[in-house]
Amino acid sequence: VKERGRKGYSFFHHEMEERSLERSLLENELQKAIHLEQFHIDYQPKVDLATGQLTGMEALVRWIHPELGRIAPNKFIPIAEETGLIIPLGEWVLRKGCAQNKVWQNQGYPPLKLSVNLSARQFYQADLLDQIRDILDETGLEPQWLELEVTESIFADIDDAAVILQKIRNLGVNMSIDDFGTGYSSFSYIKHLPIDTLKIDASFIRDIHQNKESHAIVRAILSLAQTLNLNVIAEGVESTEQVAVLSEGGCHQAQGYLFSKPISSEHFEKMLQNTT
Ligand code: C2E
Ligand code: CA
Ligand code: CA
Ligand code: CA
Repeated sequence: VKERGRKGYSFFHHEMEERSLERSLLENELQKAIHLEQFHIDYQPKVDLATGQLTGMEALVRWIHPELGRIAPNKFIPIAEETGLIIPLGEWVLRKGCAQNKVWQNQGYPPLKLSVNLSARQFYQADLLDQIRDILDETGLEPQWLELEVTESIFADIDDAAVILQKIRNLGVNMSIDDFGTGYSSFSYIKHLPIDTLKIDASFIRDIHQNKESHAIVRAILSLAQTLNLNVIAEGVESTEQVAVLSEGGCHQAQGYLFSKPISSEHFEKMLQNTT
C-alpha cells in the first residue's frame, strides 16, 4: 500500500484482498468437495394452506467443510455458478434428490413432488435433457414427482428459454418460476411459456400484512396465476398473519419457517412417519 496517509484506500484495498483470498479458497475447496462427500441435502416441506397437508418439498444443498464449517448457499452457489462447478454439483443434487424421493415412495409414503433448483447455467447446458432423462431412468422416479425451479434470469433469451422449457415439459417434469416478481417480468411473457407454477418471492411475503405495495403485487400475481391456470406458492412464510392474507387472496400453497425449516432427510422421514 503506497500512501499511508490515505487510510480509506488502504483499508479498502486490504478488504478487497481478503475477499478475493476467501473467494479463491472457497473455489479451491469447492472443486474437491463433491468427491469428498461434503455436501448433503436438506428438504423443506411445502404445505396446502387449506388442509395443512404436506404437498411436496424443496431440495436445498448444504456444504459442511471439515475446517471452515457450514458455508451458506448464498456464499458458495454464486461461486459455483461463475466457475461452472454448479454443473456437477447441480447434477449431484438432482440425482441424490430423485433417488431419495423414490426411496420414500418405495417405503409406502404418499408420493410427494420434489422441487430441485436449477441455475441458469445448468438450464442452458447442452446435455441437460439427457441428464434429466438418465437420472429419472436410473432412480425410477416418475417425472410427475419432479419439479425444477428456475429464476427469471433464464428469460434473458426468451426464445431459447421457451424451447428448452418445452423439451423439459415434454419429459413430464414440472417447471416452476422461483423468486417470481423480482426479475425481468413484464408479466405478459408468462403466457407464452410452458410453465406450471409461480413461486412468489419471499420479499413480497415478508411485509405483505403491513405494506400496501407488497400486498398489491401478491394480489396481482395471484390473479395472473388464476387467469393463466397456473399453480402458485408463497415462499418465506413465517407468520399466521401472512397466511391469513395469502389464504384470503386465494393462495393455497406455502413454504416457510412457520411450517418447517429445511430439515435433514432423516428428520424428514421421521416427519413422514408421524404425519402419514
Ligand atoms: P431459494 O431457492 O429461493 O430457496 C429459499 C431459501 O429461503 C432457502 O435458503 C431457505 O432455507 C430459505 N427459507 C425458507 N423458508 C424461509 C423463511 O420462512 N424465512 C427465511 N428468512 N428464509 C427461508 P438457502 O437454503 O440458504 O438457499 C439459498 C439459495 O441458494 C436458494 O434460494 C437457491 O437460490 C440457492 N440454492 C440452494 N440449494 C441449491 C441447489 O441445490 N442448486 C442451486 N442451483 N441453487 C441452490
Ligand atoms: Ca428455490
Ligand atoms: Ca426462492
Ligand atoms: Ca432466492
